[in-house]
Amino acid sequence: MTACPHPTKSRFTTRAAADISSRRVRLSTDIQLTPYECVCTWWHLTKNTVEVLLTADEADRADVEYVASLPDIDFREIVVADLRGQGARGERAVLRHELNLRRWRRQLGQLVADIDAQLHERKNDTSLEAHDWRKRAVNYSNTLALRLEECRRLRAVVHADAFRKKDHRRRDAEIAAAAGATVKELRQHAGEIAVGRLIDAHGSEFARYCAEEYLALGLTVPDRIERHIKDSSV
Ligand SMILES: [Zn+2]
Repeated sequence: MTACPHPTKSRFTTRAAADISSRRVRLSTDIQLTPYECVCTWWHLTKNTVEVLLTADEADRADVEYVASLPDIDFREIVVADLRGQGARGERAVLRHELNLRRWRRQLGQLVADIDAQLHERKNDTSLEAHDWRKRAVNYSNTLALRLEECRRLRAVVHADAFRKKDHRRRDAEIAAAAGATVKELRQHAGEIAVGRLIDAHGSEFARYCAEEYLALGLTVPDRIERHIKDSSV
C-alpha cells in the first residue's frame, strides 16, 4: 500500500460513505465536495473537479481492435499518455476494453518496475534537483497505482461476466438434454410459441401487415387474410 499524500484529510472506506459525507457538507455549508479514490486505498473528498471515470463504452470498436494490433512500443505510448491524462477520452477508453486489459496491466506493471528502480537508484541523492524529481516521480508512481487498481477492477468484472456466461451455457445444456433436445431446438421452440402468442394477441394487425406486403409485391390478397381483417374489424 502507498502512503497517503493527504494524511490529514478525512477518509472513507467506500465511495458511498464518502458520498453521504459530501451531501452532509453540502447541506450545512453549500460547498460541493466530490469523492475520489486515493492511492492509500481510502476515499477522500475534494473541492476540485474529478475526472469522470472512463469506460470501454466510450471506445470505438474499430479503435479497440486497431490498438490491440499495435506493437508494444506504440501501445505503451497510449498507456503513458493516459497516465498523464492526455489524449481524447475515446482513445483512452480503448485501454479499458477487455481486449486490451491484459496488455494494459502488463505495461503498467513494467512502468511501476521502471520508476521503482529509478527511485531506488537516486534515493541517496540529496541535491535540490533530485528532491524535485522525487516529488514528481512519487506523483507519477501514485497515478500508476490508481491505474493498476482501475485495471484490476475492470478485469474482475470481465472474469465475473465470463464465469456467469459459462454457467448459463452449462445450465441451458443440462435443461435441453433433460428435454431430449438441443439448446438451439429449445430456443426455436420458444420463438415459435412466442410468434403464435403474438398472432393471437394482434391477429388483425398481423393480417393487415400481410395484406400490405402482398399488395406491395403486386399479389392478390388471399381470402383468408381478407376475412381475418373483416372479422376483427367488426
Ligand atoms: Zn489518501
